Amino acid sequence: MLLDVLLPNRCASCGLPGASFCPACLGSLIRLAPPLCDRCGSPGAWPVRRCVECSGRRLGFATARAAIVYDGSARRLVQAWKERGQRTLAREAASIVVETLSRPAAPVLTFVPGDGDRSLRRGHRPSEALAQELGRLWELPVAPLVRRARSVERQAGLGLQERRRNVRGAFAPAAAAPPRVCLVDDVYTSGATAGAAAFALRRGGARRVEVVTLARAAR
Ligand SMILES: [Zn+2]
Ligand SMILES: [Zn+2]
Repeated sequence: MLLDVLLPNRCASCGLPGASFCPACLGSLIRLAPPLCDRCGSPGAWPVRRCVECSGRRLGFATARAAIVYDGSARRLVQAWKERGQRTLAREAASIVVETLSRPAAPVLTFVPGDGDRSLRRGHRPSEALAQELGRLWELPVAPLVRRARSVERQAGLGLQERRRNVRGAFAPAAAAPPRVCLVDDVYTSGATAGAAAFALRRGGARRVEVVTLARAAR
């Protein structure tokens, strides 16, 4: 984008001039490592098939994995990425994901679609930008397989129950999906958004959905 060229680059987290996310701040991001919940990827003391976060929930996806913990530093990275729409930040995010997670077994990547007004500018759709960069690095095609069926309130600030209610029926299949699909989003918070989008993929024909996000809330 033109502005990125004209303005001197500053670290999105600490403001240091130079890189859009400086090496020190990159190094401070906490990588998620096993043991994890087999299904939702929440970190724990030992590996489990289901955890307190996901047991008894209908989530639509088979697995969810994230590269880093969604803490203060990660939050600033994602915020800057959303506000400035910087491609360099999408690249940075994608390389963190590729360094941390193994390439999905699915033959195609798709993404949680942005919500109307909040993502009019292409650069401001982090999940799509991340999917595109991951597709390049993993050499997998990216296809828009999910669409918004209606606009939803912002999930931020809502409780778990409200989040689930808020996204129910929010997504619909946009095209026929292959049996295995990898769904990309920027942040996994409660799993409500990824779960609802995964159900739309299943309605579109997918049998197994693997979710990949840059960051994940860790309780
Ligand atoms: Zn920094
Ligand atoms: Zn779990």
